[in-house]
Amino acid sequence: VLKIEIPGQPTLRLDHLLLDVNGTLAWRGRLIDGVEPRIRALATDLDVRLLTADTFGTAAEIAAGLGVALDVVASGAQKAALAMALGAGHVAAIGNGRNDVAMLRKVALAITITGREGAAVAAVRAADITCASVLDALDLLLEPRLLAATLRA
Ligand SMILES: [Mg+2]
Repeated sequence: VLKIEIPGQPTLRLDHLLLDVNGTLAWRGRLIDGVEPRIRALATDLDVRLLTADTFGTAAEIAAGLGVALDVVASGAQKAALAMALGAGHVAAIGNGRNDVAMLRKVALAITITGREGAAVAAVRAADITCASVLDALDLLLEPRLLAATLRA
């Protein structure tokens, strides 16, 4: 469990981290440099899973390289259903696309990545935080004081 205290907000107790792949962890189907060590560090406290439509067909290789679970989904509704099945109140999610919107709306902590692929405006509107880079987003979870600084009331 990853416990995050945010002044003026209920304490977050996160068990799961759900990650979109393309436009979030990967660019043109390849893992972005610097993602792997951050995911490995977070995986000591969180169950990490990739949820992706696998547009580039590289998700299985990426998940195996990171040592995390993979769910290939056909729709955004499937991403949201998985978040709810895990217990959305204890889930953090990071994504950038329109098919992430329903998931981002359900989870306790939602982050969008604008990145090189950009972010669907609906995804940004559904998020608690928007980051320019997935490395920055993962660092928020690795150093919760950064998260508290952004989200404190
Ligand atoms: Mg995406």
